[in-house]
Amino acid sequence: MRADTTRVVVAALLAGACATAPALPRPASAPAPVAAAAVPPTATGATPGKAPATTTAAAPPDSSLATTNAPPAPLADDVTAATLLADVRVVDSTIRVDLRYATPYNFTGAVLPGYEASHALLRREAATALGEVERALAADGVALKVFDAYRPVRATEAMVAWTRRVHREDLLRDGYIAEQSRHNLGVAVDLTLVELATGRELKMGTAFDTFAPAAHTANATGEIAANRARLVRAMGAAGFVNLPEEWWHFSYPVPDPRRFDLVIR
Ligand SMILES: [Zn+2]
Repeated sequence: MRADTTRVVVAALLAGACATAPALPRPASAPAPVAAAAVPPTATGATPGKAPATTTAAAPPDSSLATTNAPPAPLADDVTAATLLADVRVVDSTIRVDLRYATPYNFTGAVLPGYEASHALLRREAATALGEVERALAADGVALKVFDAYRPVRATEAMVAWTRRVHREDLLRDGYIAEQSRHNLGVAVDLTLVELATGRELKMGTAFDTFAPAAHTANATGEIAANRARLVRAMGAAGFVNLPEEWWHFSYPVPDPRRFDLVIR
């Protein structure tokens, strides 16, 4: 368990993971942060409301690295952001979008600042590549459903503030929530596969934003392993790289990364 946790932290730092606190299911009631922190464990056995006992021991060798998992990049103004980012549904309108941080159904229990609409934006080259994935999958009756894509800097800052409000600084220290994320660059996307005809999600074994070994892409068997492999293969064919500890997280390389704080409207 400890080794697994360490591996997650290190991989997250290197690969630019989502800001994934232990996953929380859809909150039952008020979206107040404290209430959100107390939601019950997920079906996967994660314990969202409390830090896993192993996280402190699993701090990376250089904990100063835990505040960033994205390459240094200048903050671009909104005009530049609007030029460089593209809506994936403009590229291909069959891509489903359920932007969880634009809803209370995320680990903070509240809509995050900067998410005023459910539009999945990515750097234009990444959005174009995602359209290629969608078209290739359609031949087999499958489509993509996006949970998160470009994330405004202010949303990341809100995640960090949340950890302090609910006394979960361990999540920062251990790299589960990064103060700089590849999502801020518009080059990371969180998504799953759905049936093209019905929109029904294929079984992936855990919910989006589940922090647990069960969410490791390779940690599955049977139908779930086949579905994850199908997603990785389809995304990989267009140039996306999966984060091994999160079956839903993929990133796409761009030559000139910039951070953005454009509000999603
Ligand atoms: Zn992600």
